[in-house]
Order: sequence, then structure tokens, then C-alpha cells
Amino acid sequence: MLRTSATFLIAFAISITALCQSKETTQPKLIVGIVVDQMRYDYLARFSHLFGEDGFKRLMNEGANFHNHNFSYAPTYTGPGHAAIYTGSTPTVNGIVGNDWYDRKLQREIYITDDSTQTGVGTDGSAGKMGPHKLLSTTLLNELENFAAGESKTIAISMKDRGAIMPAGGNADAAYWFAGGDEGNWISSSHYLKQLPDWVNDFNNQKRKDQLLNSEWNLLLEKERYKTYRADNNPYEYNFRDMIRPAFPYELSELRESNGNYDLLKATPSGNAYTTEFAISALEKENMGTDDVTDFLSVSYSATDYLGHQFGPYSLEIQDTYARFDRDIATLLKELDKKVGEGNYMVFLTADHGAVPNPAFLKSENLPADYLPYHDLINQVQEELTEKYGSGDWVEHFINDQIYLNRKLIAEKNLNVKKVSRFVVEVALQFEGVSNAISSWDLHTAAQDGVFEIIKNGHHQKRSGEVALVVAPGWLTSYSYQGTTHGAPYSYDTHVPLIFYGNQAPSGNYYSPTYIRDIAPTISALLRMSQPSGCTGNPIEAFFSH
Ligand code: ZN
Ligand code: ZN
Ligand code: ZN
Repeated sequence: MLRTSATFLIAFAISITALCQSKETTQPKLIVGIVVDQMRYDYLARFSHLFGEDGFKRLMNEGANFHNHNFSYAPTYTGPGHAAIYTGSTPTVNGIVGNDWYDRKLQREIYITDDSTQTGVGTDGSAGKMGPHKLLSTTLLNELENFAAGESKTIAISMKDRGAIMPAGGNADAAYWFAGGDEGNWISSSHYLKQLPDWVNDFNNQKRKDQLLNSEWNLLLEKERYKTYRADNNPYEYNFRDMIRPAFPYELSELRESNGNYDLLKATPSGNAYTTEFAISALEKENMGTDDVTDFLSVSYSATDYLGHQFGPYSLEIQDTYARFDRDIATLLKELDKKVGEGNYMVFLTADHGAVPNPAFLKSENLPADYLPYHDLINQVQEELTEKYGSGDWVEHFINDQIYLNRKLIAEKNLNVKKVSRFVVEVALQFEGVSNAISSWDLHTAAQDGVFEIIKNGHHQKRSGEVALVVAPGWLTSYSYQGTTHGAPYSYDTHVPLIFYGNQAPSGNYYSPTYIRDIAPTISALLRMSQPSGCTGNPIEAFFSH
């Protein structure tokens, strides 16, 4: 009896050890990071009746679905989103405070990835003069390169330069983005490559991009399957140039010329299909996920953002965009099964931000929303500062809902910049639609949660303005009455999907809060490698508690 139970215990212990060991040793051969540009959390459920079984549903049903996943900083834009996902940090640390921001030394706006010291690879145009030098932290791809002594394949792909360069950071093997206009090619810059590999040139030389553009965009499924909350042709959508109404069908071949030729490809669901095809080509030609060193493929899908801006979250167009995108995800997963093998790869899918429904539409539904005319606000600030402190150009710049004050003028007049900033806060708060305003000097003592905490996390002392404005939920700062945008510290912009699938990912639904900066340290912990240099997030508990 004793002997039996001892044997049983030993056998049990061995099986536990074996189980643990197999868990320890089954490292993914490939990690695929999917960032969907402008994907709100609700899309997974709201569009699920349009999905097949092999795309989003496969990820949701078999993977770990985190339902309470949020950005913990604002402004919620593409550049900061990709930087936060891949560095596990917020703009306070990684320095990416917007897609563009105001450079005090240069006294002009600068673009996140502009780098005049680089030359284009695969292009002679300015689209190739790009690099990651404004990103102040390493990324997951960089840490993987260092961890694997350069033996890991790390590639980042996106139609947007910033969607590829932020994940790629300093030393990924390659970053590819798409040059629109009359070029229509996947390109890179001298920061990453000397020349395009043959497979990229071959891909660019295919007729596929023209095939995709010389077609009609109509609904993928029978019209009855879509939930038509409002008419396809409605005043809240902005139109392609030369199109009479923003409604199906869209004859792309006719719109192509007046809509920037290959730029149009970025702004149609085919842009996502084309990105998928390019990613699959990279997988195959670069032999990714075929040996024991973990590789990393970062794919960011941009068409969802262009279309989201144009038509908004409740449009028929965005429903069809996600119906089609679901098939792209299915195609990518199938190729991963084939090339890397089910269980050998891990996928995460998240978004770089959400979007607010068109405020004019919300207003028409008697919901709180409107537009803040920022020119009026800036003029008022300028006037009141002049009245109080004398004449001068007090406001040097306004971008990302932040006011950059003229520090030189403030110094010349021997004024206290903190006092002047606080006065500007008072002026701004007089405006309907401004919910909160805070000077950068007061952020450090601001509340530890809520909107001020989110603004604080998005603030970089050298790159942000003196005064941050927060417009009320549903409001936008001076935007077209058609279409919509993002950037706010509110749930419609901060609450996004997060799904992990495959390899060591758990399965099930999780409702505890997770934050965008937790993705990178989770992957670092799984791979037992260093977190990105600026990482301030934490590994997600669900992975490690079983
Ligand atoms: Zn974006
Ligand atoms: Zn429409
Ligand atoms: Zn956007």
C-alpha cells in the first residue's frame, strides 16, 4: 500500500516535472505582433456576426482574451501607441509624445520618424528619409536581437512608416513601410538596410497592387448580414475625392487618379490584404520561425485607421473593412500553421488606439459631444496674457491639445513660467468643452488615477507643452464635421483589444485590468530576456499563475 502510493507520488512528481520542463523548453519559434491601427474594443463583439471561424474567432476562442485592456496615457495616437506596445513604457519615458510635436530648439513641428541623415532604400523620395532616433527606449525586437546575439530574425512591417519603425527601433533586421503616390512600393531606409532584398523587389514588381486598385470595393457579404445603424450615405462620412456620395459601391479604378494613386490602396481594405501578403512573403523568404532561435514579426495594419477616420466606427464601410480584415487574419494564421506549425508560434493582437464616433452624429443622437474651436481659445489666451503681462507673442505653438508658451518672452519679462502657465489654465477653463487643463508643473502632484494620471503618463518634460488641455468626452478639437479621430484619455480611445494566442498563451477570458505597457514585459518574461530599456509595465499575471 505504502509502496503503491509512493510509486504513485514519484510518478506524479515526474509527470509534474516533465510538464514543467516541457513548459520551460517550449519557446516560441516565432512571435507575431499584430497591431490594428484604430481598433476599438467593441469591434470584436459588434462585428462578430460578420466574422468567419478562422480569423478573429479563432484567436478569441482558443487564445487569451483580455477584456479590460487600456492605454494609461494620452495623446492616443499611432506613433505613441506603437512605441508604448513595443517598449513597454509611456511617452514620459520613451519620448514619443505624438506623431508630430513641437521642437523648442528648432522652433518648428517635427515628425516622429523624420531623419534627414538617412537615405531611402527602394525610393528616392522623402518617404525613405526615416529613422528611429527620436525613440528613447529599446524595443522588444531590439532586446531579442541582443538576447539571441543577433541570430534572431526581427522584421517590422506596416504601410505607415511609424507603424514599422517604432517596433523596429534601433537594431531590428529590417523595417518596411509603403511609399504611396506614384511609387506603390514597400521601402526602407539606410538606417536598416543598404538595399532591398531580392524578394522585396520581386514583390514590388508584381502586378498585384494594380489588380487590387483596378477593382470595385463592394460589400463582402450579403447586405442583410450587416447591421445598418445609419444609412450608408450619411452626412457624417467624408468622401473620396471625385465620389458623389460616401456609399457603396466604390469604383476604385475611377477614384485612383484623383486620390493619390497608390495612396488609395492604403485607405481601402485591400491595403490590409496587401500588407498580409507582404508579411507572408517575409515569413517565407526570410525563413522566419524555422529554427530554435525565436524570431519576431511585427505587422501593423493601417487601412483600418484611414477608413476609420473617413467613415467612423458606426459606418457600413468600417463593418465591411473588419469583415474583410477578419479573412486577412485567417489567411495569416493559416500560413503560420503551414510554415511554422501550430503551437510553435505565438500571436498577440492589440491596437494603437481607438476612436470616438463622429461628434456631430453623437450630438444628433442627443449624446454629449461637440467641437472646440481651438483658434478662438488660443486667441483668448493671447489676449488675456497681453492684458495681464504686456504685449508679445505669448503662445509659441499649439499641437496635441497642448499649449507651448514663449519661454524666451516669459524670461525677458522676468515672469515666473509656472505662474504664467497656471494663468493660462484658468483662461482655458472658461471654454465650454474644456473639461480639464493642467500646467506641466502641476502634473507631478496630480491625482494617481483618472484623467490627470493619464495626461501625466503622456507628458515628457522636454517635448511636451506647458499646458495640457483635456476636452470633454465626445468632443474633438477643431476637426472636420465629417469623419472622426482619436487622441483622448477616454475609454473610446484607450480601451482596445488584447488577445494572446498560441504556444505558451493561456486561454480564456480575463477581466482584470491590463495596460498597453504590459505587453512587452509579458513577452520578455516568457522568453526569459531583458525588458526593453525604458519598460515600466508588468508581466500579465494570467500567463504565469498556472
Ligand atoms: Zn493609429
Ligand atoms: Zn457610407
Ligand atoms: Zn488615426
